[in-house]
Amino acid sequence: MSTTNSSAVLSCEFFPPRTEAGVEKLLVTQQTLNDVFQPAYYSVTFGAGGTTRESTLETVTLLSKKGINVAPHISCIGSSKQQIKELLELYKSLGISRMVTLRGDIPESGESTKEFSHANELVSFIRETTGNHFTIEVAAYPEYHPESVSPQSDFEHFKSKVAAGADGAITQYFYNIDAYSRFIDNCQRENINIPITPGIMPITNYASLIRFSDICGAEIPRWIRKQLEAYADDKESLRSFGLDVTSNLCNQLLQQGAPGLHFYTLNQAGATNAIWKNLSI
Ligand code: FAD
Repeated sequence: MSTTNSSAVLSCEFFPPRTEAGVEKLLVTQQTLNDVFQPAYYSVTFGAGGTTRESTLETVTLLSKKGINVAPHISCIGSSKQQIKELLELYKSLGISRMVTLRGDIPESGESTKEFSHANELVSFIRETTGNHFTIEVAAYPEYHPESVSPQSDFEHFKSKVAAGADGAITQYFYNIDAYSRFIDNCQRENINIPITPGIMPITNYASLIRFSDICGAEIPRWIRKQLEAYADDKESLRSFGLDVTSNLCNQLLQQGAPGLHFYTLNQAGATNAIWKNLSI
């Protein structure tokens, strides 16, 4: 990896709100982010965190009709080919040109149409049905996907998404920069030249960070965990430490040539804007 990328692509992720008040708040969040650093696009998660697919479509429609550049997430595990085809047509009609393409987490109910098993199949299907209309982002896991059988097979599966036609990847969040650097080195060795954008999770709440990280397999290094634990209810010190850690991470990533940063905003502007203000770009 080389020098700071001055044309870094910065993007922000939202989840679809479940209430009218949540929708109003999301619009304020988007405006607040836009006032500070004009993200290149906003992605909207799909059926994640207990939200429904309908609410993803509603949020994407609302934002895109306001002229905001939106990239819906689309996951295939519980969908039929026909449903995906209809969704792609709808997104095309809304002027959407970028998507984050996933398998999705296997639902507790085990619900699956059996028409798709993995994200590479969805990438191929999107290319077959809509050609090069969409810029396709896929997920990457520098610390390995929690279900992966081995680091090697996880990387092979990542390669199969690239071979199927992915234009870029966004990583699961991480705080170990070496994991990302190694992932990039592996890609370079295999001649994978698509941009691999680090996913950044701001640190604002100890309990929820631990809960998310346990589920998605992101490691919280001991020196971070111990310090967050020590702050306990001292929210101000915790946020200040979290801001310092994530700002340093982002600056190091950009210095090493990361093509951009994708912020997991959790529908809040404050922490992401604060990190952006600390970036040396
Ligand atoms: P895949 O790439 O299919 O990989 C899943 C697992 O299967 C891995 O362990 C992989 O090694 C293995 N695998 C892949 N291909 C094969 C194969 N051919 N044979 C055998 N094994 C294989 N979840 C949501 O529900 N909604 C969202 O909006 C959402 N957004 C996300 C955004 C980002 C940037 C990231 C990083 C994750 C997101 N997730 C979301 C979580 C994601 O859905 C889960 O991590 C899911 O478990 C895997 O999805 P994937 O697309 O990475 O799957």
